[in-house]
Amino acid sequence: MSIVADMWIGGTRTAGGGSPIAVADPATGDTVDQVPAATAEEVDAAVAAAAEAFGAWRRTDAVERAEHLRRLADAAEAHAGELVALLTREQGKPTLEAQGELRHFLGGLRYYAEAASKLRGSYQELPSQFGPAYGLVVRRPLGVVGAITPWNFPLTLLANKVGPALAAGNTVVAKPAETTPLATLRVAELAGEAGLPPGVLNVVTGTGPVAGEALVAHPGVRRVAFTGQTATGRRIMELAGPALKRVSLELGGSDPTIVLADADLDGAVKGIQIGRYWNCGQACLAPKRAFVQAEVYQAFLDRLVERVGRYEPGPGDTRAEKPKLRIGPLHTAAQRDLLAAQLADAVDRGAKVLVGGEALNGPGHFFQPAVVVDAPEDSRLATEEVFGPILPVWKVEDLDEAIQRANASQYGLGSSIWTRSAVAIDRAIRELDAGVTWVNQLHYGYDELPFGGTKQSGFGREHGQEALEEYTELKSVVVGGLV
Ligand code: NAD
Repeated sequence: MSIVADMWIGGTRTAGGGSPIAVADPATGDTVDQVPAATAEEVDAAVAAAAEAFGAWRRTDAVERAEHLRRLADAAEAHAGELVALLTREQGKPTLEAQGELRHFLGGLRYYAEAASKLRGSYQELPSQFGPAYGLVVRRPLGVVGAITPWNFPLTLLANKVGPALAAGNTVVAKPAETTPLATLRVAELAGEAGLPPGVLNVVTGTGPVAGEALVAHPGVRRVAFTGQTATGRRIMELAGPALKRVSLELGGSDPTIVLADADLDGAVKGIQIGRYWNCGQACLAPKRAFVQAEVYQAFLDRLVERVGRYEPGPGDTRAEKPKLRIGPLHTAAQRDLLAAQLADAVDRGAKVLVGGEALNGPGHFFQPAVVVDAPEDSRLATEEVFGPILPVWKVEDLDEAIQRANASQYGLGSSIWTRSAVAIDRAIRELDAGVTWVNQLHYGYDELPFGGTKQSGFGREHGQEALEEYTELKSVVVGGLV
């Protein structure tokens, strides 16, 4: 198969010199397309294009940059069917979920189009020992941003970086995951068609160790915005540290969810089910460990098991007959093997699988969604990030135990509590070690609120006005000579 998806550098489709990477459909194993595996020289060319474009882009006013982001969103929306189909084919997610991802992507770009003109600085009175003067604090764009994204939400995670970076006047070199580069490349091409100046948004494809590391280490890249695994985040820090680059690290998570006896149980079961099994369980912010108060433990399990039993694994571009619910394949065979090993570790040591848990035969990487109880506290289901459709549920006596066990994790991305008690809610907000706490709500990343982690889930924030500010640096100005 010839390479039909080239890279996007300096506003033109650019073929790569290295051997191509095949992009496989997770539902069938068929090759969807091939993309170049960028070399360090090709990454260098993309950074050079972004650096050249920065000169003019930083001088545009915020209204103009906002207009470009809006036009990009409009162009992507006009090609929604094509982008949704690409997401399903390269990532595996069902069409309905791909449509949701595209909406979130458009929402992210439009949010930052609105936010572009809201960046503010400040004025400061100063003492006059060197003559009358006043101070200003202004915000300036950083320059070239390296944006590295994973395969689970290729487009929303791109918008989280490209939106604030461009709104604040930076230019971007994006590197999508090697298994999901196609929707990202198409978006970059659409941006060119929509009039985004050449070099403002570039996309290089390729592997993490070669293209990703070249981008992180490149002296022309001022800031690295990374989403991916915690282990990769550590490597990014190693590379960016000596060059004193700014980094944001959106890493893995093992979000706890607490269900107390006074909760709206149906609401809790439904919210946790959708949150855990959406995207075939491959979401950073999914509830991945459930702690349920003893009084409602059995009722919670009964209702959850009934709902999870309705999932029918199948290709994302087909629908399930009601009341069955479509769930797509895991993204790769390696992902499925890891999940099976994590489950086996718990089962070997006494955990019980109440529903699902089998890897299904076939060319696709399908897995029957599972609910598990009695997993040991030191089992892999409890201590590692579980990136697939398995929910371990533990019985707890009270809120104290729930918070203590919820916090007994290396991760600290999201967390949630289901209760009607204001006192319990207040304690959860104060005491759960996480970047987000949802109260009686689905785990979802809102454009309006900063999102990110603590502990081994990383640092820095995406979304909200706060993320926009992370793409600027402060300059203090002293203005004298006034009399
Ligand atoms: P990954 O770390 O394997 O890869 C992510 C990206 O990093 C890819 O583009 C990859 O090519 C690149 N990469 C890999 N090695 C690199 C290196 N040495 N230098 C530079 N770049 C490198 O992650 P993944 O498996 O694709 O994604 C799943 C992970 O992402 C999960 O842990 C999930 O929780 C996490 N995630 C976090 C968030 C968040 O907001 N916190 C959101 C989504 C996903």
